[in-house]
Amino acid sequence: MPTETFEFQVEARQLLQMMIHSIYSNKDVFLRELVSNASDALDKLRLEALRDDSLGADVSDLHIDIETDKQARTLTVRDNGIGMSHDEVVQLIGTIANSGTAKFLRELKEAEDSAAAEGLIGQFGVGFYSSFMVADEVTLLTRRAGESQGTRWTSTGEGTYTIETVDSAPQGTSVTLRLKPEDADDRLYDYTSSWKIREIVKRYSDFITWPVRMAPETAADDAADSGAAADDAPREPETLNSMKALWARSRDEVTDDEYHELYKHISHDWIAPLETIRLQAEGTFEYQALLFIPSHAPQDLFMQGYKRGIQLYVKRVFIMDDCEALMPPYLRFVKGVVDAQDLSLNVSREILQQDRQIQLMHRRLAKKVLSTVKDMMSADPERYATFWREFGRVLKEGLLSDFENRDAILGVASFATTHDKDEPTTLRQYVERMKDGQEHIYYLTGESRQAIENSPHMEAFRAKGVEVLLLTDPVDEVWVEAEPEFDGKKLRSVAKGEVDLGTEAEKKEAATERENRQQEYADLLAWMTDRLSETVKEVRLSSRLTVSPACIVSDTHDVTPALENMYRAMGQ
Ligand code: ADP
Ligand code: MG
Repeated sequence: MPTETFEFQVEARQLLQMMIHSIYSNKDVFLRELVSNASDALDKLRLEALRDDSLGADVSDLHIDIETDKQARTLTVRDNGIGMSHDEVVQLIGTIANSGTAKFLRELKEAEDSAAAEGLIGQFGVGFYSSFMVADEVTLLTRRAGESQGTRWTSTGEGTYTIETVDSAPQGTSVTLRLKPEDADDRLYDYTSSWKIREIVKRYSDFITWPVRMAPETAADDAADSGAAADDAPREPETLNSMKALWARSRDEVTDDEYHELYKHISHDWIAPLETIRLQAEGTFEYQALLFIPSHAPQDLFMQGYKRGIQLYVKRVFIMDDCEALMPPYLRFVKGVVDAQDLSLNVSREILQQDRQIQLMHRRLAKKVLSTVKDMMSADPERYATFWREFGRVLKEGLLSDFENRDAILGVASFATTHDKDEPTTLRQYVERMKDGQEHIYYLTGESRQAIENSPHMEAFRAKGVEVLLLTDPVDEVWVEAEPEFDGKKLRSVAKGEVDLGTEAEKKEAATERENRQQEYADLLAWMTDRLSETVKEVRLSSRLTVSPACIVSDTHDVTPALENMYRAMGQ
């Protein structure tokens, strides 16, 4: 078979250069990435075999093997999972499909100093390529389940890779690393030592649900280490990981670190999550959930096709990624695992969408996430502030779609306010500061804080010292339209209808005054209304201005100018 040589795509090349020059101080993580990929491949095979009887794959002993060779200085991670076809190898291994990674690389280039770069780097898992941190050549041999021919991929990570079709290859994938020459001063990085491998697997991959096996060093290896002679008989492989599902273990048995490793495996995010949420539902429909709120929003959160991060298991068996039926779209940033006892292993996405039990789970999980955020607000305001900064914008989408939880969402929301230049306020805090006689919670929407503050609508409110919320997210234009209430008070735009600030007595006085003046100026106003009839409904005296001579106001139930623009842009 001919050997083809390919060039890595530009982004892939950049990433590889970084790996070769070892940007991560902790190189051990390469093994976590390889084991994680192997585990995914086993999950996929089990699922495919379940759905397709004719696949003809052997699923009797699915596992991961790790093999080291001290003399050759190689390390191999092998799985008998789904494998890859020739085209899949080119596509999956030769390019960076993940848009988040591409964006990361751009940002990294722009990072001004090494500290900024370091911070960025820590945020991204780089998967398979991390092998090049420790290896100067990587060979991947793979055969997709159900296909007869295999594919061998080899690269030193320097610009090109070669691909060759091979007639016989075991089903699944093996990745062999030719380890870089050892640093004389650093035996910590001896990845041919079974002791070292065992330690890394325990630390990063203990929860993997497939056995990760390794044959212990042969006596000959020990002898090579110690210089003594010994027999070379192979030893029985041992399983390195406990394979215990974290969500099935009791809470005090699992450390934060273990939870975080699972989070990384699921989310491909290298930063520890902001919050870990556990839920055990007993009774007729039993399930366990282990959910994570990440500590930063992913780059593609607002892109089309963003995948929700809930994995569905049925009795410990992985069923699917991105199970959208379990989480509302506005909580799509939540990652985790849900393990249900009484679902069929054959369950499909379509069935899930209609299943009543699943709908109940969906409701319960959404409520649980919201109540966790609420608890975070009082228990750890700083953490809550991070949460809101990262996810507030997406959470507010729920105000449009999830009426059942609207109060709960408003309850955990924060908004920029005229009360404080820097710190946002919650509605609860706003209400506590409300003036005597103030009936509504006032807000104004606009493009930026500055644009809103310069609006003439703000004048009367500023003069009277009435606090106004400054809403600048596009989604704000939409949800406020329903004039939701908080604590019995309506959210009201300062740009709409009459403004009635002040106490009852003041309001009455102002009304009489306006009445009198309205008569006094009746002729002028009628004339102006007539002259401007093409563009405005009515010209009237206003109590909202203190400096500007005039402003344009909407009726209470009219759309705001910004929303008008938005609809116009949409061609409506
Ligand atoms: P990620 O795991 O985040 O997708 P990786 O760089 O780790 O990124 O892997 C890229 C892709 O290559 C995987 O998504 C998978 O499709 C494929 N892949 C990697 N390792 C294996 C493997 N052992 N078996 C099958 N496919 C694999
Ligand atoms: Mg991976």
